[in-house]
Amino acid sequence: MAGIYIHIPYCKQACHYCDFHFSVKQETKTAFVNSLVSEISLQKNYLGGEKVETVYFGGGTPSLLSEAELRKIFETLHQHFEIETNAEITLEANPDDLTKEKISSLKSTEINRFSIGIQSFFDHHLKWMNRAHHAQEAEDCIKRAQDAGFVNITIDLIYGLPDLTDEEWEQNLATSFALGIRHLSCYSLTVEPRTALAHFISTGKSRKLNDEQAARHFEMLMQRMKEQGWLHYEISNFATEEKFISQHNSAYWKGKKYLGLGPSAHSFNGTSRQWNARNNHLYIDSLEKGVIPFEKEDLTKIQRINERIMTELRTMWGLPISDFGFSISNLLSAKSRPFINEKLLETKNDSLVLTDKGKLIADKIVLDLMLDED
Ligand code: SF4
Repeated sequence: MAGIYIHIPYCKQACHYCDFHFSVKQETKTAFVNSLVSEISLQKNYLGGEKVETVYFGGGTPSLLSEAELRKIFETLHQHFEIETNAEITLEANPDDLTKEKISSLKSTEINRFSIGIQSFFDHHLKWMNRAHHAQEAEDCIKRAQDAGFVNITIDLIYGLPDLTDEEWEQNLATSFALGIRHLSCYSLTVEPRTALAHFISTGKSRKLNDEQAARHFEMLMQRMKEQGWLHYEISNFATEEKFISQHNSAYWKGKKYLGLGPSAHSFNGTSRQWNARNNHLYIDSLEKGVIPFEKEDLTKIQRINERIMTELRTMWGLPISDFGFSISNLLSAKSRPFINEKLLETKNDSLVLTDKGKLIADKIVLDLMLDED
């Protein structure tokens, strides 16, 4: 079983913190969709005939695609891949796109899951981030999607904003619960190089981020989710019950094959990774000549193990160290001992699992456990 990721590289406006690949100029969208369908057919053998159990439209802003564009993409996917009848098909959407008409048009396609970029239910945060929507639109679009019959809805929230008070963070979570959301992805704001936010901080126009505040928000988040009985199944991801766990993202974390389509998209076939050029014009021009612009890296055994440490340790299922053979398992056991002694890691069913305390410094633990090539 495998997954397909499709990157839609357009947005209405640039959020100040964002370093994903996108363009705010949408004139090339039609040419892009033509190139995308060419890429789909050129990559028909990438997954080695495995059935596709998840399709994920990410970006950028996939909700900018018209129904006709989506239908063209689905038609081409079905021509070249076997997609499970009950596949999870997610579309990332921004609240300002999800009008009643748009939702009903999306409902007529194969999309059965929305990932909505809410980020905050407060207007002053949305303005600070330069999001294209308002707080009221955020709540309204969720209700509209639910009224139209979408049950599997996830929303993104961001914490660690300099102006996000503890009370506002509590309120954002309480609003999500009140709206009957089944899945939440919560990310700590980070300052990526060459973003508007990095510029604002370096010129003193914005306050610096506060690590203690972000850690406190994360602890509050874990506490509230526990009280509500949600599954904390990956550091940043929570579901009300198992059936709402993201199948697509879980496949990444479990090392399954996936094909990434569109500019900047990454693919993994079990032994190598490849990534497409992060440039819309280059992508479109190249595919018009029948060539996918990508780079590729074959992974060594140690790189593959390190990738598993990076991804699986972040999940509630943990890292099954006995999978790696006697000597690597012993090495990982020895490396993990100090963290187990400090109650940052624990072992469950022969797997290493982060404790709540460990989740606060997950990146450091992952780095320490990773293996050297020699
Ligand atoms: S809508 Fe999403 S992809 Fe587009 S700029 Fe904002 S955060 Fe980035």
